[in-house]
Amino acid sequence: MSTITLTDLTKHYDSIAAVDGIDLDVLDEEFLVVVGPSGCGKSTTLRLIAGLEDATAGTIRIGGTDVTDSPPEDRDIAMVFQNYALYPHMTAAENMTFGMQSVTDYSSAEIEDRVADAAATLGITELLDRTPDALSGGERQRVAIGRALVREPSVFLLDEPLSNLDAKLRVHMRAELSKLHRELDTTTVYVTHDQTEAMTLGDRVAVLNDGTVQQVAPPQQLYDFPANQFVAGFIGEPAMNLVPVRVRDRPRGLVADHEGFAHPLPDGGSNSALVDRRLTFGVRPEDVLLAGRSATGHEESFEARVTVREPLGEQLLLHCTIGDDELQVKVQPRRDVSTGDTIRLCFDQQRLHLFDPETGDAIYHAASEDQPAKPTPSQ
Ligand code: ADP
Repeated sequence: MSTITLTDLTKHYDSIAAVDGIDLDVLDEEFLVVVGPSGCGKSTTLRLIAGLEDATAGTIRIGGTDVTDSPPEDRDIAMVFQNYALYPHMTAAENMTFGMQSVTDYSSAEIEDRVADAAATLGITELLDRTPDALSGGERQRVAIGRALVREPSVFLLDEPLSNLDAKLRVHMRAELSKLHRELDTTTVYVTHDQTEAMTLGDRVAVLNDGTVQQVAPPQQLYDFPANQFVAGFIGEPAMNLVPVRVRDRPRGLVADHEGFAHPLPDGGSNSALVDRRLTFGVRPEDVLLAGRSATGHEESFEARVTVREPLGEQLLLHCTIGDDELQVKVQPRRDVSTGDTIRLCFDQQRLHLFDPETGDAIYHAASEDQPAKPTPSQ
C-alpha cells in the first residue's frame, strides 16, 4: 500500500509561506496531478514529499509510515525532474543506474535486467549506449523516466517532466505516461502548471494557489463543479465568464439580474438565502448559446455586441459585450457572425454558477453533483 498523506504540511522560506498548511491524501496506485500557477508551491510540495526539503511544520506519511524526518533514500520514491538532470559523460544505461548499487542490495545482473525491462517499456533499448548529446529531447526525457523506473519505487514524483519538450512531443509523451501508469499502477504525484496535462493525466487533480489546496477532485468534476472562483477561472480555456449580478425574486422563481440579462436560476427558487444578494455569475464560453431568430423576444435570450471574432479552427470564439462586461462565447466554426454584429444569446440552463464575491466560494451550481449536467447540444 503506497498511500501518501500530507497533514498540515507547511514550508516557510523566511517570511514566504511556500506551502501553507496542506492536507492531501494520495490513494494507493492513484495518479494525482498537482496544478496551479507559477509560484503557488507545487514544486516545494513535491520536494517535501521527496525529502529534498525539510518541513517547517506538519507531517508526511508514505504507506502509513511517518517519513517527515526520514532522508530521501529511506522513502522508496523516485523523482523525475523537468530538466532531465542527466550526466553528460555517461551513457543512457549508466545514467539510469547511477548510484543504484551503493544504496540497494541489487546485484549487477539484477540491475541489468531492470534496465532491459525499463528500456523495453519506454522503447529506448536501441539508445542505451548513447550519451545524452546524441539523444533528442524526448529521448532524454525517456531516459530520465527510465532512471525512475529501474528503481521500482513505491511512489513516483514527477515535476513538470514534459515542459521542456515541443508541443507535439508533449502530447505524445502525455499519452505515453498515461499508458505507463496503467501498466505499472505505481502511486504517482505529478506537478504541472498546464491544466491540459492536469485534466488528461490525473485520476484526480489538486488545484493549488498561494500554498494552499483549493480543491481536489476528478477532472470533470473540477470542471463542472468548481469549489471557488479561483478554480473556476484557472481550469478551462478560455476561462469561465464571471460577471456581477444581483439575485432577484420573481413570480416564476429566482433570476440572476445583470444590466444585459435577467436569467432564471433553475432550482434556485428554493434558495431564499440568495435573494437580493450581489454575487458573481459564472458561465463557461461553451455554455453561452446562440439563440435562434425564433428566440427574439424570448425572456431568457439577450442581446450582445460582437467586438472580436477569433476563428480557432474547430471552434469560433466570439468576444461580446453585454452592458459594461465582456462575455466570451464559443460557437461552431463558419458561423455567419461578424465583428460589430448584434447577436442574441442565451445560457445553458444546467451550467450556471454563482460565487460569493467576497470569499470566492461557490454557492450555487445549476446542475447537481449527484445528477451531473447532460451534454450541451452542439451549436
Ligand atoms: P511552483 O512550483 O508552484 O512554481 P515553488 O514551490 O517553486 O512554486 O515556490 C513557491 C514559493 O516559494 C515561491 O514564492 C518561490 O519564490 C518560493 N521559494 C521556492 N523555493 C525557495 C527557496 N529555496 N528559497 C526561497 N524561496 C523559495
